[in-house]
Amino acid sequence: MDLLSPPDSERVFAAGEPVSVLTAEGLDRRLDYRAPAGGARAGDLVEVPLGPRRVIGAVWGPGEGCDANRLRNVVRVLDAPPLAAGMREFLTRAADYTLTPLTAMLRLATRAPGLGEPPSARPVLRATGREPDRMTDARARVLAAIAEYGNLGFGPGELAALSGVSPGVITGLEGLGVLVREAAPRDAPYPALDPARAPRPLSPAQAETADALRAAVRAGSYSTTLLKGVTGSGKTEVYLEAVAEALAAGRQALVLLPEIALSGAFLDRVEARFGARPAEWHSGVTQAARRRAWMAVASGDARLVVGARSALFLPFTDLGLTVVDEEHDGSYKQEDGACYHARDMAVLRASIEGAAVVLATATPSLESWANADAGKYRRLDLPERFGIAELPEMRSVDLRVETPEQGRWISPPLAGAVSERLAAGEQSLLFLNRRGYAPLTICRACGHQVGCDDCDARMVEHRFRRRLVCHQCGATKPIPLACPSCGVEGKMTALGPGVERLAEEATELWPEARVAILSSDLSESASALKARIEEIAAGGADIVIGTQIVSKGHNFPLLTLVGVIDADLGLQGGDLRAAEKTFQLMRQVAGRAGRAERPGLALIQTHQPEHPALRAILSGDDEGFWKAEADARRRAGMPPYGRLVGVIVTGVDEARTWDVARALAREAGALRSVGADVWGPAPAPIARVRGRHRVRLLVRAAKGVTLQPLLRAWVAAVDVPGSVRVTVDVDPQSF
Ligand code: ADP
Ligand code: ZN
Repeated sequence: MDLLSPPDSERVFAAGEPVSVLTAEGLDRRLDYRAPAGGARAGDLVEVPLGPRRVIGAVWGPGEGCDANRLRNVVRVLDAPPLAAGMREFLTRAADYTLTPLTAMLRLATRAPGLGEPPSARPVLRATGREPDRMTDARARVLAAIAEYGNLGFGPGELAALSGVSPGVITGLEGLGVLVREAAPRDAPYPALDPARAPRPLSPAQAETADALRAAVRAGSYSTTLLKGVTGSGKTEVYLEAVAEALAAGRQALVLLPEIALSGAFLDRVEARFGARPAEWHSGVTQAARRRAWMAVASGDARLVVGARSALFLPFTDLGLTVVDEEHDGSYKQEDGACYHARDMAVLRASIEGAAVVLATATPSLESWANADAGKYRRLDLPERFGIAELPEMRSVDLRVETPEQGRWISPPLAGAVSERLAAGEQSLLFLNRRGYAPLTICRACGHQVGCDDCDARMVEHRFRRRLVCHQCGATKPIPLACPSCGVEGKMTALGPGVERLAEEATELWPEARVAILSSDLSESASALKARIEEIAAGGADIVIGTQIVSKGHNFPLLTLVGVIDADLGLQGGDLRAAEKTFQLMRQVAGRAGRAERPGLALIQTHQPEHPALRAILSGDDEGFWKAEADARRRAGMPPYGRLVGVIVTGVDEARTWDVARALAREAGALRSVGADVWGPAPAPIARVRGRHRVRLLVRAAKGVTLQPLLRAWVAAVDVPGSVRVTVDVDPQSF
């Protein structure tokens, strides 16, 4: 049976007829069942027995010729729209390309709890306002969660998970009348978006670009456009016009944003433009809202979805436009479970649906730049900021000359610039891509560094939490007084800068200033972070200290100075993408400065101002930088001019993990025979995470080689014990 044959076109199966069902769980095989009374269509979501369990599946086509009498029955067809043929083809081809089990793809596509259940089967809880007579810590957490997320009708399990309490606490609160259980309300329909509602007058450059995008949408055929515009050029405004065109044509549109959970501003803009809010899809959306969004997308009722990368797997019936905003952003790559890049999947999906893709960014990925360069993507440029706003002036601070004091990170020129902003009542941003207080805790007596017990990573001191934290697995430990290795007391020292330490320095230098830290800490919820971003934008801080979270499109109108504390950070290490990533990050961060009428300045502290990435940033020669990067990659045969596939082997038992990796290296003959290089095995960049050893192989091949069938056969040829996992990552992001 060929799993990857194209799905059967629409047809109806009579009751009792054998149908082939792809389940969202279990082995990566389709299974035959008998269609239920009432029959079934291709694409119908169904509940089927699988061993002792009942699981969700999708009818994929006719049964494969088994004896109908020996088959088990489909339990029922779920009360949900069927997956359209285009959707099924997308899942099939995405699975094929990424070497992900199709079953796992279907699971991604049906991640809406309670799908197809009647409202009565989905009880929700409501807080009555009554206080429990005795307040426990756990009860307080539940009430705090409701206060934070709103009294939105969470399911019992969901509320327990959100509050971090056991289900018993929830039941207990029901018993006390603090919570009541109700049938889920009927889903309200999504309000209609009006494409003609409030278009803004566009600048001539914007208007020309918007016309081109509208034409691409109107064409109703596949196209990809790289919309490259400097920060503040009005890209968002322009692509909203493309969205309007898709809506006017009666098709659906999807806008993908990195860190959507943190930004209410974009939703406000959509509402201002179209008169209503779109459907949202990201990790901060409640289960009930997820189910509602899923159903409305599948029925065609939801016309515009704004979401994170996984929104690409929603069951659109007629997707006319996908916008990938900040297309260069690393968060579009999913690396656990199914490994996929949302940008590439957006292009794949559009090519199936006959739809337009817009990739918007100020700093394209080298992949997209090269595709535009080769004529595969159309490229449109907005080289100037909208209105009177000017791009910030860029200057480097050579740390070899302007050295901060011992144990300090802010150089005299940067300190001077911050003081000027404080005097003028303007905001400064100090950017440092390191969470916590200090990246290293070291014993000055013996040199011991405190590491995580389960990961190949050093523990990072978080002073506010008074703990050491592992940034790989989240494990924490107290900060030791005595060295865990030599036992000497009082010699444990924090080394290197983190945002907390930088904030401490800023407070010492400017005791009168309001200092705020913007960092995605593991201990903080998305909504708390979002509130802080809004407060800063409204002027609630004088100095903002931030990690890369600040680079992602937030608008801070009072911000006129950006100081990059350590531009060399990302350039260390052997990653071939280091220069590209540093270039993108520096441009994005600097782009936060001077977005309104106030001119901006970016000061970049570095030990190597002559590095090509920094020279390009300082001189504004972006095209020259991309050309040089492209040449280097082409010479090395590396992406985007060659193909790369990572194979990560992980296991708790180190010897077994390496055995599997070595066996893979031995079995790679077929790959080598088509001219592919197979490198490794070698320890992965992080060689142990959560107690699992990680060993990597890399396959490099010429662009024209179709690797997937060879890769599949290769991985299948090696015996893998149950305790070892092999993950294939097509187009890995770091190499
Ligand atoms: P980008 O997405 O390129 O960073 P935005 O679309 O966010 O740029 O626009 C930058 C700023 O300029 C925003 O504050 C936006 O409201 C404003 N702006 C852009 N285009 C227009 C326009 N045509 N009319 C009025 N304001 C605009
Ligand atoms: Zn760890």
